[in-house]
Amino acid sequence: MPKKARAVRKNAGDYSIHSLLIHGRARDEHWDYRHHVVPPLSSSSTYRLEGASRGARGFAEFAKEEHDPRKRRKAPIYIYDRLAEPTRDMLEESLAIAEQGEAAVTFATGMAAIAAALGICVFSGQHVVAHRVIYGSTYSLMTQWFPKYKIGTSFVDFTHAGALERAIHSNTRAVYLETPANPNLQLVDLAEVKRVVDAANAKRKERQRIRIIVDNTFATPFCQRPLTFGADLVVHSLTKNICGFGTDMGGAVIGSYHDQSALLSYRKDFGGVLSPKGAWPILVHGVPTLSLRVRHQERTAQEVALFLEQHPKVEQVLYPGLPSFQQYELARRQMVDFDGNFAPGNMLYFIVKGSLAQARHRAEKLIDRLARGAYTITLAVSLGQIRTLVEHPSSMTHSAVPLNRQIKEGIDPGGVRMSIGLEDPRDIIQDLRKALAKV
Ligand SMILES: *Cc1c(COP(=O)(O)O)cnc(C)c1O
Repeated sequence: MPKKARAVRKNAGDYSIHSLLIHGRARDEHWDYRHHVVPPLSSSSTYRLEGASRGARGFAEFAKEEHDPRKRRKAPIYIYDRLAEPTRDMLEESLAIAEQGEAAVTFATGMAAIAAALGICVFSGQHVVAHRVIYGSTYSLMTQWFPKYKIGTSFVDFTHAGALERAIHSNTRAVYLETPANPNLQLVDLAEVKRVVDAANAKRKERQRIRIIVDNTFATPFCQRPLTFGADLVVHSLTKNICGFGTDMGGAVIGSYHDQSALLSYRKDFGGVLSPKGAWPILVHGVPTLSLRVRHQERTAQEVALFLEQHPKVEQVLYPGLPSFQQYELARRQMVDFDGNFAPGNMLYFIVKGSLAQARHRAEKLIDRLARGAYTITLAVSLGQIRTLVEHPSSMTHSAVPLNRQIKEGIDPGGVRMSIGLEDPRDIIQDLRKALAKV
């Protein structure tokens, strides 16, 4: 029997993560909502303080490690929405459970969360090593803005043995990656990254330690929990499969209680808080249905991948659930759901046949056909919704990368990225079959 992931938390008891993500904790030192069946959307930018001493205590206690429930003896004092507020706190509690971390801090968007995670680890004069294939805005954060703050970034291929090791300098403070990577779903071996970083850290003092930051947006915590492989911080765009319905934006960083203090303090001063009105749908609709949605989506993704794999106009299908996937063994080890089952996720990428120019033309034509004629497939960027979304990375999400670099990085001009939704797989396949027949 595969081992089940269980959250080890106060009050969590022996319940599975699935149940914890539905019920949360109706009562703890922060709030008492035992009489609500659905957690309330609290909406108050400021909080009544009963006296000067309570106000002073609230400020003095903010972002201290008393957030650690093991050290927490009394209820924290809510002061002002930008510091802390209960609807968002409840979402953070759920996200920490889902990622099997100690604590989560949410942000207005995924990019605000990524900037914060890097922002508490790397300072002026220091250096980041990033996997060469990362989200477009993360890439421009590192290439457009970091140099202005005198932070250097080296982009290397983490799948090449020795590449990460060679890129680490004495001033390196963070190693940053996504797995599966966007758009071609290439995986990075998290245990191997941990081994290399541990070896580099062995000779370092605590404050010079290199931290591992993993963007887990593509996989979702249902399919993969990087903290359990030794990552220090996990970042998410909640906008994607954690919200799941495409209605709200958000971001989160999950890690230790120690990092939570720094993240809360960063969020207070840089200001990118998630509003309670944005947190509520993610808490009430997104997180409780994550397992259900992703489990269903990955069954459909497998069917769609198998259909595409045997289609005469398709050159290659990249989906971690296919035995033909180059890193299938790694996928089986690393992408495992809360119950210990193989969980290859809902994202797939396929390349249409033909020379570079032909394939590009065909992929664009296919996208146009789908955009106009497919009922169950929508042309749109973003991912992780109940609707199946499709896009052409070479001309859309990754168009900022020059063509010769695209090819080097495995972004094929004939490549199409799909985010599988909850529609009937037969309908998705029928829409694809019809569109492929016309290209
Ligand atoms: C969308 C996305 C982001 C950015 O998230 P936003 O919520 O749009 O700011 C970061 N990383 C990955 C992998 C994403 O897909």
